[in-house]
Amino acid sequence: MEYVVARSIDEAVARLAAAQGAAHALAGGTDLIVQMTAGLRRPEVVVDIKNIPDLRRITRDEAGFHIGSAVCGAEINEHKELKATWPGVVEAIDVIGSMQVQSKATPAGNLCNASPAADSVPAMIAAGATVTIVGPQGRREVPVEEIPVGPGKTSLQKGEVIVAINLPPRKPRSGDAYLRFTPRTEMDIAVVGVGVNLSLDEDGTCSAARVAVGAVAPTALLVPDAGMALIGTKVDEAALEKAAAAVRAACNPIDDKRGTAEYRIRTSAVIFKRAAAEALARAKTSGR
Ligand SMILES: Cc1cc2nc3c(=O)[nH]c(=O)nc-3n(C[C@H](O)[C@H](O)[C@H](O)COP(=O)(O)OP(=O)(O)OC[C@H]3O[C@@H](n4cnc5c(N)ncnc54)[C@H](O)[C@@H]3O)c2cc1C
Repeated sequence: MEYVVARSIDEAVARLAAAQGAAHALAGGTDLIVQMTAGLRRPEVVVDIKNIPDLRRITRDEAGFHIGSAVCGAEINEHKELKATWPGVVEAIDVIGSMQVQSKATPAGNLCNASPAADSVPAMIAAGATVTIVGPQGRREVPVEEIPVGPGKTSLQKGEVIVAINLPPRKPRSGDAYLRFTPRTEMDIAVVGVGVNLSLDEDGTCSAARVAVGAVAPTALLVPDAGMALIGTKVDEAALEKAAAAVRAACNPIDDKRGTAEYRIRTSAVIFKRAAAEALARAKTSGR
């Protein structure tokens, strides 16, 4: 195996694209190194992207926040402005693993590892986040929900690297939240994870809403019908029940040691309602 420390995005792309066999970008390594140690992956080339200055920054402009793909969870959690603007996205990143894991793990790695239970992914989908990808064919920007295509599989092409996660500008009276359910309180992966992001009009009517679920299907899913059920309402119990039914209908989970499919479907509605209540409370107090 060849280990390459890339100093620029172009160098990382060139080295990944030139590999004959499997090639992997290395960010925090909290998935990749574990998988290599277990013999599950045997890459020919590993390209470390942590020393590329452009990937190590969080910036903000008129298009929103841009989180470099080598910025780890702990750094994101310490970014006050980002945390205040997108508390749901940051809390989803904050539940990943432990303090040690977060000092390495990146949300871009969480996305590219393509675990159905990846915590940051439903929150980023609910936020309407996109990723900027650079590859041999140039640069493109795609919605987060288009990256995972199945457990452990992404839509990224050979040589492509995610360089940034982009969070759009925030409307007034907006709030987001992420909640997961795990059998244990620490160091476990989600049985269900739900991200909710909504905006309110001046009179408190919901004007925009996105709901995404994780751990209940082969990939994290945007649930458009759940968002639609909230828009035009005061996010009252009737609207929440309609949206919860859409969440249940979107679930296509497996049975495993953490819970049966039926258990996951029922729990998804409960976690959705709690996350929606938190997002609503944040929207009502945002900008005050
Ligand atoms: C003890 C422990 C606890 C954990 N707990 C949780 C948890 O609670 N919730 C959870 O969701 N996850 C958890 N994880 C999994 C892991 O920490 C996350 O998935 C993490 O966010 C991965 O990020 P990374 O930077 O370490 O990725 P890496 O391991 O570096 O990479 C993961 C994959 O993504 C690819 N990749 C990374 N960056 C890029 C990029 N910029 N462009 C293209 N491809 C890229 C790599 O090639 C590799 O295939 C845990 C892991 C451990 C070891």
